[in-house]
Amino acid sequence: MTANINLPRILRIGAGASRQLPEVLDELNLKRPLLVTDAFIVSLGWLDTLEAQLSEKGFSHNRFTEVVPDPTSDAVTAGLAVLRQGKYDCVVALGGGSSIDTAKAIAVMAHRDQPMRHYKVPNSIADGLPVIAIPTTAGTGSEATRAAVITDTESQEKMLCMGLGLMPIAALVDFELTLSMPWRLTADTGLDSLCHALEAYVSKKANAFTDTIALAAMTAINTHIRTACQQPDNREAREAMMLAATQGGIAFSNSSVTLIHGMSRPIGALYHVPHGLSNAMLLPDVTAWSISGAPARYADCARAMGMAESSDSDATANQKLVAGLRLLCSDLKVPRPGEFGIDAQAWQQSLELMTQQALDSGSPNNNPRIPNAA
Ligand code: NAD
Repeated sequence: MTANINLPRILRIGAGASRQLPEVLDELNLKRPLLVTDAFIVSLGWLDTLEAQLSEKGFSHNRFTEVVPDPTSDAVTAGLAVLRQGKYDCVVALGGGSSIDTAKAIAVMAHRDQPMRHYKVPNSIADGLPVIAIPTTAGTGSEATRAAVITDTESQEKMLCMGLGLMPIAALVDFELTLSMPWRLTADTGLDSLCHALEAYVSKKANAFTDTIALAAMTAINTHIRTACQQPDNREAREAMMLAATQGGIAFSNSSVTLIHGMSRPIGALYHVPHGLSNAMLLPDVTAWSISGAPARYADCARAMGMAESSDSDATANQKLVAGLRLLCSDLKVPRPGEFGIDAQAWQQSLELMTQQALDSGSPNNNPRIPNAA
């Protein structure tokens, strides 16, 4: 089997990488960026700093700052209106996955007329304006994926859109931007990265390239996630988590996510549970249910994360994996849906819809054990 690998053309990784935006735009011969971010990032002053750098170097630029969490097709339409008012030749995303996905969607819709939902068909988006992604969370890995997750405003479906046009041309991966993340956001986004790496490794689409990257990411995340939460200024932990997030993105984008992400998206869309948290709510139970489909692969994950010894049998490693994931979720205070405040009756009533959306998304078909609606 041949593995097909897609990556950003430029990856700059390390402290201060985000300050190299003018240099990277020059390298790509891009002159008129539209900057996309959310109001909170604006309040941190980071957009002003970036814009001052661009002005100093003579770039013509503008901003769209109306990104919303779990970005909607309406927010993309609003961004598109700004894009179409000027002659921008690229889109720069500054922020978490919501900003990056909004920027990607604006960039690919620039020359398309159909609504976003038309493009939820896999690989239907081959091209778009170049996107330069500057992540500020260590989580989604969207800076290095050919995916954008957009909620259709009409149907409330959280759509996974995939295609080469959604791969950023460049990613500036600067862990210093994550030092400001509070405890909860650090935990949620770090757990999202862990799910990406674990799902990529156990996926039916896993390959030798993604395997090594996924294992490295799992090792780093389980080593550093608690420290990153407890000691927000710990640069070693932040740097490791940021690299692992990008690696998790590369891994799943070139393999796939599986049942956890398939079930998580409808929970996020209907109940506005932060994305990493809805993954984490599912992580131990979905893992326990799926292990029989690929016991040796799950045992590798347990060993990579230091949850099992190399001398443990696969069966023992698998038991330790589920226990280790439960402990991690408990340490990181991952709530059950009811504890998050989701009404039990509403949850029950929405199960059929959520099940349908999960199965329709395609991700569960890559799970080592294939689920059905029941
Ligand atoms: P987010 O972008 O929604 O940000 C969450 C909040 O954190 C926002 O209020 C934001 O302003 C704030 N924030 C961001 N960086 C911060 C920082 N450094 N310090 C303090 N606050 C900061 O969160 P996210 O988890 O990064 O992104 C989630 C979205 O990404 C979801 O919609 C999810 O479906 C999507 N996603 C996309 C991909 C992909 O490959 N395209 C992969 C996984 C998830």
